[in-house]
Amino acid sequence: MSQKIVLASNNQGKLKEFFQILAPLGIDLHSQAEFAVPDTPEPYFTFLENALCKARHAARLTGLPAIADDSGICVNALAGAPGVLSARYAGDAKSDESNNAKLVAELANHADKSAYYYCVLVYLRSEHDPQPIIADGRWFGQIIATPRGEGGFGYDPHFYLPEFAKTVAELDASDKNRLSHRALALQDLLKKLQ
Ligand code: IMP
Repeated sequence: MSQKIVLASNNQGKLKEFFQILAPLGIDLHSQAEFAVPDTPEPYFTFLENALCKARHAARLTGLPAIADDSGICVNALAGAPGVLSARYAGDAKSDESNNAKLVAELANHADKSAYYYCVLVYLRSEHDPQPIIADGRWFGQIIATPRGEGGFGYDPHFYLPEFAKTVAELDASDKNRLSHRALALQDLLKKLQ
């Protein structure tokens, strides 16, 4: 019998990506939208706390095991900022364009342009599971001031991969899905689930 699990996200793109990877393991993944679970605030300073809070919220409201993720970009010269604020770095309007403009401006006087995308995944067997499974992935690159490429989203046009001589926005979607922080975190989760 397959194991029914709720994904604590209302993002269809993520659900599809997670489904493709977890379905072959006999995991029966369902969006929290199917159970009318509303989004929960993400008030914490760490990705891990935010992911745990989302997973616990979904497990509590559905009575099912839950998986949640949290992700963002961390820039070394900015002490890890934008970090958990990545989606709303330039304010609550959540605009990619203003987030990118702010990031480029903040980094202008720093020689170190190194950064990484980070994704953490949390699996909770139940609301009160004392030992969540925690998996994560990092994708390293450099922030460039002039955007390049049309693909991806968010910070991708400014996130340059020296080994490919491309930004993430210039990669094929299939390459991004294979190489990304989310892909790495999912591989880590799979290893730990198995
Ligand atoms: P989420 O909470 O995982 O949906 O993402 C948080 C924010 O981090 C996004 O709104 C983006 O600003 C940034 N982010 C996370 N993953 C990526 C990515 O793959 N490319 C570009 N930006 C990303």
